Amino acid sequence: MHDHQKGTQCLHAGYVPASGEPRNIPIIQSTTFRYGSSEAMGALFDLEAEGYFYTRLQNPTSDRVAAKICALEGGTAAMLTSSGQAANFFAIFNICSAGDHVVSSAAIYGGTFNLFAVTMKRMGIEFTFVDPNCSQEELEAAFRPNTKAVFGETIANPALIVLDIERFAKAAHDHGVPFIIDNTFATPVGCRPFEWGADIVTHSTTKYMDGHANCVGGAIVDSGKFDWTKYPDKFPGLCTPDESYHGVTYTERFGLEGAYITKAVVQLMRDFGATPAPMNAYFLNIGLETLHLRMPRHCANALAVAKHVKDHPKIAWVSYPDLEGDKYHELAKKYMPNGTCGVVTFGVKGGRKAAETFMAGLKLASIATHVADAKTCVLHPASSTHRQLTEAELEAAGVGADLIRLSVGIEDVADIIADIDQALEQV
Ligand code: PLP
Repeated sequence: MHDHQKGTQCLHAGYVPASGEPRNIPIIQSTTFRYGSSEAMGALFDLEAEGYFYTRLQNPTSDRVAAKICALEGGTAAMLTSSGQAANFFAIFNICSAGDHVVSSAAIYGGTFNLFAVTMKRMGIEFTFVDPNCSQEELEAAFRPNTKAVFGETIANPALIVLDIERFAKAAHDHGVPFIIDNTFATPVGCRPFEWGADIVTHSTTKYMDGHANCVGGAIVDSGKFDWTKYPDKFPGLCTPDESYHGVTYTERFGLEGAYITKAVVQLMRDFGATPAPMNAYFLNIGLETLHLRMPRHCANALAVAKHVKDHPKIAWVSYPDLEGDKYHELAKKYMPNGTCGVVTFGVKGGRKAAETFMAGLKLASIATHVADAKTCVLHPASSTHRQLTEAELEAAGVGADLIRLSVGIEDVADIIADIDQALEQV
């Protein structure tokens, strides 16, 4: 399916029914799978045969949807997780242990920041957060001998900072480690980070991929390009035998194209069990079928909204990478020439108080922690998703106390703009 265009992949990749089989991806709502003999099942446990035995590790519905996302990103292997948080945790923990270190862009989703800076720190994994626009010297200085990965977001939520993917990928590769990128906001319709040197892509599928606020979910895709075997001392988990599977060495048995995802499935899903429900995978697939239609509409509506509020007397500033003159416009044009995303951020004159009055006045846009949905929604991050960050961390993440995050939906844009205008009149 890799030869098809993205729109065709959105509909067809990952599942081609044989004659007489269901046209839709079937929901295999079963925890377990029957085998004719213990030997046949034993081969699965030794990773000698392919197949399903328990949905905590793998399920055919989820795997078909993962295969679609894999094709859309242009990867070699992919897996679904129960959430975007699980995807980012697994993506790092699959190659890092206590005592290891990761370089991460500071401009990332608040929940990911907390996962890295608090929870994974408790597991003994340390993160150095760098300004995505830092100097080359600062970027270099962030690396340590025990650094195992570099992490960033294509378009940071909610700062809307477009990452210089090639620069971060190069820095990672110069230090012999992979570059992991969260591509949630751009989606593969807007940007395929593997084409710019990224090695592993993660997603919160909860956002545009599902697109209809149906199901929380995540995905991890491997480009298959990072050569773990060049650095066996750094990545022993991939390059030396795993005794919990009778001594299998993932890179030897599954090749560069399959080692990373296979290890994440058979170790991390086995032990942590952050598996999506087959029904959720089914819903995600329905969302994916229209991703290529929804994203251009999100981008067009968001650009119209950004242009409108930019000239509004009650608006202090606007940030939207597709807007001419935006700080990240050049990077956006390079990495996402067909549009970035539907999220626009701006500050209402009068700071936090004015922002709260504006939020209270909105009628069509719903106040929701959700983002990247077909229906317009709005959030004040400093008092919600990012409330655990200190003032300094808020600044580093590019999230001021006055920042409003408007997730522009696919309604008629005139109605979205009218809603904004009437709410601003109340400020
Ligand atoms: N990554 C990004 C960029 C996000 O915006 C989010 C959630 O907002 C996540 C990861 C976490 O995903 P989830 O809420 O599906 O766990």
